[in-house]
Amino acid sequence: MTTRVEMKDVRKAFGDNEVIKGVDLQVQDNEVVVLIGPSGAGKSTVLRMMNGLETTTSGEIYVDGKDISHAGKNIDEIRENIGMVFQHFNLFPNMSVLGNVTLAPIELGKKSKEEAEKEAKTFLEVVGLTDKANAMPASLSGGQKQRVAIARALAMHPDIMLFDEPTSALDPEMVGDVLGVMRRLAQQGMTMVIVTHEMGFAKEVADRVVFFGDGKILEQGTPTQIFDHPQHPRLQTFLKQVL
Ligand code: ADP
Ligand code: MG
Repeated sequence: MTTRVEMKDVRKAFGDNEVIKGVDLQVQDNEVVVLIGPSGAGKSTVLRMMNGLETTTSGEIYVDGKDISHAGKNIDEIRENIGMVFQHFNLFPNMSVLGNVTLAPIELGKKSKEEAEKEAKTFLEVVGLTDKANAMPASLSGGQKQRVAIARALAMHPDIMLFDEPTSALDPEMVGDVLGVMRRLAQQGMTMVIVTHEMGFAKEVADRVVFFGDGKILEQGTPTQIFDHPQHPRLQTFLKQVL
């Protein structure tokens, strides 16, 4: 078993406000780990530290064996192997769908324009949007935009995909399509760390569910352990509120 991500006693303070208070977390190759917990618990901060969008105050984070907490200039290279999808899709509004998906591989010199476009079409197929290659983002629904964002992340051939509440900004009728794409990625063996409030999805797709509260991991286990036999009183309370 290969360890893709390893966090060791990671702490993070904003000013004198410590928001991550000693987190140890491992993600194995092909594993789907879902982070749950109340708002403000530190889930986004943990995810952002995994790809260097946020620095650590102390502790260590290894991605594919490389220490990213002290990566310095090499962080860009490490980040190329980590795809990230946010709540708000952050598509480039002045580029077509195809332009959005091919931009990074072309700019980073990974692919010729022709190769990148050919490949982008297969990723658009994965997310069910082959017919939208030439559309502009403004003409797409929220769910379609989010699926473009997923295709754009896949275009970098990441080893790991991070998702931060990818369906929270979507109209309810769009949520299923995006979760469907994520489910298929999981089935294909993609290593994924997902912050979500979609408990049904977590139950079905997660190999492991990690419950955060107040900057710490309070409990983790299989979906059955977490949803059917929660131990920590805070997890029990949380589940009563969200289920
Ligand atoms: P979650 O994603 O679980 O809702 P976050 O990781 O976003 O939680 O936030 C954890 C805590 O860190 C919150 O108290 C939040 O206000 C604080 N926080 C997050 N980002 C910043 C920042 N850039 N500056 C100051 N405080 C922040
Ligand atoms: Mg968050």
